[in-house]
Amino acid sequence: MVKKTQEHCSFCGREKADTTILVSGIEAQICNFCIEQAKIIVEEESNHDFETPDYATSVLKPSEIKAFLDTYVIGQEEAKRVLAVAVYNHYKRIAQKQDENEVEIEKSNIVLVGETGTGKTLLARTIARMLHVPFAIADATVLTEAGYVGEDVESILTRLLQAADYNVAAAEKGIIFIDELDKIARKSDNPSITRDVSGEGVQQALLKLLEGTEVNVPPQGGRKHPEQKMISVNTKNILFIAGGAFQGIDKIIATRVRTNMVGYSFAGVKDDNVDKEHLLQYISPSDLKKYGLIPEIVGRLPVLTYLNPLDRKALKRILTEPRNALTKQFIKLFDMDGIELSFENKALDFIVEKSIEFKLGARGLRSIIEAILIDAMFELPSKKRVKSLIITHDYAQTKFGKASLSKLKAAV
Ligand code: ADP
Repeated sequence: MVKKTQEHCSFCGREKADTTILVSGIEAQICNFCIEQAKIIVEEESNHDFETPDYATSVLKPSEIKAFLDTYVIGQEEAKRVLAVAVYNHYKRIAQKQDENEVEIEKSNIVLVGETGTGKTLLARTIARMLHVPFAIADATVLTEAGYVGEDVESILTRLLQAADYNVAAAEKGIIFIDELDKIARKSDNPSITRDVSGEGVQQALLKLLEGTEVNVPPQGGRKHPEQKMISVNTKNILFIAGGAFQGIDKIIATRVRTNMVGYSFAGVKDDNVDKEHLLQYISPSDLKKYGLIPEIVGRLPVLTYLNPLDRKALKRILTEPRNALTKQFIKLFDMDGIELSFENKALDFIVEKSIEFKLGARGLRSIIEAILIDAMFELPSKKRVKSLIITHDYAQTKFGKASLSKLKAAV
């Protein structure tokens, strides 16, 4: 409501004549300039809802962090425990007072080694979700040394800044997940690579970020150019979590374990006690070096853990248990159309079986369910009388049989 009798803005004191509009409240007035100003403040404040975790008050204890991870990630007990401790220590480190005489706690950057689709990204994303800190994913394969075609390593920080709505302080305490770290391993034994674009040079560039340094970041990404205004970001307190499948590393582990066996017992394990099927559990930093990571990178990623391949039991649990479990998501989608969707146990087994058959792991579960439900999702919203749909083994098999498998593979 605009009152003619009131003559000035209660906030800035402007005369009514100097404003375009003066809105009256019960005991005060506000002009269009102050409304604009207030709008900016509200927007800024709502963009800054990232918390700065204070380990003493807001960061959960390691066992609580693990319990949180349990609600989203199935299995991977060892990785969850290691990650929980690393994250806890990371925020202790950030909370540490800057005192020259203090013991300096080094950063607990992490490497997760495990096959694709076993939950590496999910773990990192869930940690960020728990801490309410900005989170960015960077694919190591697109990174190149400055000057080559591809993305500079600074682009990783652009992405984190964007995730933080350009709140630099929040970004500086965020989490970056570097995927496919194994793909930038040195490939010196590969004669077809004459220039090591995707190898050691990128590792060197990445090293600077991991070490903790001030980096000038192009706010919109892309190549640096002189006219662009840069934002300075310090990476000292950013937690880096790197992931990779490191295909073939089991052979390196096996060789090391066998060599160490001669004359010694390896890590207290006797030869016949070595679980040869699951060698990844014995992974050590030296294996990463052998694989082609430079020692400095390995040194800057001191926390090393592994993820197990997902078996049938785990895949079935993934379908139904996590907070955002796939079946729960589809049940919700159907529910919005007033249709009660349910899956029979045998149908779930069928979905798991197909996922294993096509070697799609957890990544394939969604595409398989989509293929089974596509007809129902297309037809049922316009059939008012249908109030429920039970997915039986036969229904799943028939509908899946109709789906083009090549299409399915392309979707994964
Ligand atoms: P990775 O990074 O290891 O390649 P992701 O974390 O991206 O794999 O997993 C792909 C998808 O599979 C995720 O979106 C998630 O739904 C599912 N998934 C994989 N592993 C798990 C797990 N251990 N628990 C729950 N869901 C999982």
